[in-house]
Amino acid sequence: SGVLFSEGLRSCGVMVLVNPQSGWGQATALYNSHIQRMLTEADIPHTLVITERQNHAREMVRNADLTQWDALVILSGDGLLFEVVNGLMDRPDWEKAIQTPVGILPGGSGNALAASVHHYTRKPQVWGEDLLVSCGFVLCKGLTSKLDLISVHLSSGVRLFSFLSIAWGFVADVDIESEQFRLIGPFRFIVGTLVRLASLRTYRGKLAFLPATDNLETDVSQAQQTHNNRASNKSSEHNPSEHKRLVDHLLVPLDQPVPQSWTVVEEQEFVLVVAMFQSYLGEDWLVAPSAFTDDGVIHLFYMTAGISRPTLLRLFRAMQSGTHMECGCPHLVYRRARALRLEPETRPGIITVDGEQVEYGPLQAQAHRGVARLITG
Ligand code: ADP
Ligand code: MG
Repeated sequence: SGVLFSEGLRSCGVMVLVNPQSGWGQATALYNSHIQRMLTEADIPHTLVITERQNHAREMVRNADLTQWDALVILSGDGLLFEVVNGLMDRPDWEKAIQTPVGILPGGSGNALAASVHHYTRKPQVWGEDLLVSCGFVLCKGLTSKLDLISVHLSSGVRLFSFLSIAWGFVADVDIESEQFRLIGPFRFIVGTLVRLASLRTYRGKLAFLPATDNLETDVSQAQQTHNNRASNKSSEHNPSEHKRLVDHLLVPLDQPVPQSWTVVEEQEFVLVVAMFQSYLGEDWLVAPSAFTDDGVIHLFYMTAGISRPTLLRLFRAMQSGTHMECGCPHLVYRRARALRLEPETRPGIITVDGEQVEYGPLQAQAHRGVARLITG
């Protein structure tokens, strides 16, 4: 961890990116009513940037002079930070760029990272404006932690970077179907859940993962073997641009079977699969209470077919306080992993990464411990 606003480093301040369309369109008003005053009182120089369209933030961050900014802060839902993180990773100087601290203020309908940041302060759960004020204080204190990024490969060859979650099945369907209820803010997920519950279905596919042992070093040295085996099969080592990428040493190509050290899940009929990288999946869903910013762990949850509606409803309610694993439901499984592969067979379908819909099909992912920096309390 580190401190953001040390003496002498104050000249440039923070860029506050606002998505005026997020949630019910309240983010700009929240800036005016709370954030501007908090930053001014804390004597933190800041510049407001309002995005004009999707991917505007990503393009801006890709081309920005980052020496000008102490931090990039977003006041929106998680989707705008997803743009910022991927904009930083798009850059030829990504290794340095991704060290730029990023901060989050809840201004959208999906405020999972903001809820997680508040959770890491160990203060009692809050919602809405109280969550905004809490995250505002965290920002003014200006402490940073390392943040894991999860490298995600889609079957088209697209690679993206995730800080929050990968979802398929029930949760992904709710996230996207509830877009129509965005006027009610975070409540859209509750309404969406009830609607989906009424038409409960299952999703067929294959799931595999590399288990995380308690010892990260063992996992890394095993991974090194996978990577060495791959490297000896390819002669890409003389390609200079290859060295400059963040290498996914745990993964083999999607068209090859997963390595021996992986666990292949026997069940192939699911209600949901969610890979969590932070504690909260939404402002009200404490899915992975033990997760923290840079644990290097993929907290993998899956629910297998055969679960009844009442049990499912009970589990979702328990998730609000993070007690769902205490219900002892045999259909809900939790595993800690370093990497995973998901091959959906049910078509059509929805997959989300950090709440954003991505191309539907096989994907794989691996955690990279602490490669980014997040403003935390
Ligand atoms: P919410 O939590 O309400 O979904 P997000 O911050 O996740 O809010 O933003 C939702 C979507 O809007 C994201 O896909 C994001 O990339 C996109 N977006 C960002 N800026 C704009 C804009 N100015 N107009 C429209 N969409 C935008
Ligand atoms: Mg969103």
